Amino acid sequence: MNSAPTTRVPRPEDLSTLSLQLGRPVRDVVEIPARCRCGNPLAAATAPRLSSGIPFPTTFYLTHPTLTAAVSRVEAAGVMAEMSQRLQHDDALAAAHTRAHHNYLAERERIRELAGLAAVDEIAGVSAGGMPDRVKCLHALTGHALAVGPGVNVLGDETLQRISDEWTPQMCTCESAWDHTAEVPSQDLSRHVRRLQNKEAS
Ligand SMILES: [Zn+2]
Repeated sequence: MNSAPTTRVPRPEDLSTLSLQLGRPVRDVVEIPARCRCGNPLAAATAPRLSSGIPFPTTFYLTHPTLTAAVSRVEAAGVMAEMSQRLQHDDALAAAHTRAHHNYLAERERIRELAGLAAVDEIAGVSAGGMPDRVKCLHALTGHALAVGPGVNVLGDETLQRISDEWTPQMCTCESAWDHTAEVPSQDLSRHVRRLQNKEAS
């Protein structure tokens, strides 16, 4: 375990793991924003414009099945409506949620530049998960919280707290969380890898 990777640069084996976790080929992955303590990806950072040309506002996406299932259970328990209510009445929370929105947009700009993409005007000012004033997807908020660390996306942090009996950063459930022997859904190269190859070719 001493050699568990910490790099955010997606390695070929990370793309295979992401595809196995999701059960479909991943595309346009720019970064691995969070890893399990064993090194496996917990989330993917996707380019804000896909290779197909489609704008893609959800930069941070949970991929680890243990995490996604735990967050789905929190959603199913009605927590999003309750959080949205609290945003209406708690000014400090509302301000924090708005700050998270701006951080999300800044992070997406960083990912966009890393991917060598031009500005994606179609999604300018649009973040994810219901930010800045609502809560519509806890997976998006939690993915952001894991990518940037505690104290930025407070409702994502709260969601991580709420699932802490099922998953914490100290826990590795990778062995049983997905089928490691399955055939890898045919994978795409990440933006980053593709860009390096283009540089070498030119
Ligand atoms: Zn693990």
